[in-house]
Amino acid sequence: MRYIFSPYGEAAMARFIRKDTLLAFDFDGTLAPIVPLPDAARTPTAICLAMRRLCEIANVAVITGRSVADIRERLDFTPKYIVGNHGAEGLPGSAGTDEPRPDVEAWTRQVDTARDRLPPGIFLEDKGHSLSLHYRTASNREAAKQAIDALVQTLSPRPRVIGGKCVVNLLPANASDKFDALLALQRHDGARNALFIGDDETDESVFRRALPDWLTIRVGHDAPSAAAYCLNSQNEMASLIQRIDSMIRAQRKETA
Ligand SMILES: [Mg+2]
Repeated sequence: MRYIFSPYGEAAMARFIRKDTLLAFDFDGTLAPIVPLPDAARTPTAICLAMRRLCEIANVAVITGRSVADIRERLDFTPKYIVGNHGAEGLPGSAGTDEPRPDVEAWTRQVDTARDRLPPGIFLEDKGHSLSLHYRTASNREAAKQAIDALVQTLSPRPRVIGGKCVVNLLPANASDKFDALLALQRHDGARNALFIGDDETDESVFRRALPDWLTIRVGHDAPSAAAYCLNSQNEMASLIQRIDSMIRAQRKETA
């Protein structure tokens, strides 16, 4: 990965970003800093203001593992698209959130039954189309992760498992991922290219399979990644949004 604010990165953005580019962002760890309790995650003011400006002039999408209802409350700006549950919810033309979800209900029952065998500090989050097991607050995260992995092996029906930062996400086996979501959005939007920014394992599905007309940026370089570019940390996110915003505004002036 190359640093996005390097000469290479700046040149790539200048070549790539057009006023009709689809600009897609993950939420936790990308638009909001990672916090011990997911319910406390909020978008910092600088990012919020930058996103409000960007949403006025560009096609913006937020693609997150959270449910759409959850993420909507956390955004103080209005993107064109909000896709939740790793792509299972909120795609234009997809079904609503009230369809039956027997897999998630079955896993919840099975995890509840096994709760006594799990170390403390693990909590369940029912996101409607998916189930998340968080272990950030466990005193021994390694032991917690091992216990979760062992439990997941026993679940029926077998879930699709997507890891994250101190979280294990369980999705129905045929669920879409963020790659599928971004591809569907690009087609729906008619955008000629797409930019995607994310920070963890759930975003690697996009980074790994990125199409030639996608530009990918990972927040942080603490882990191996298939993204083309990176930021050093989430603190640089507001600057990146402002940079993208100014590139698009300059183009709109040119073509006005
Ligand atoms: Mg994230």
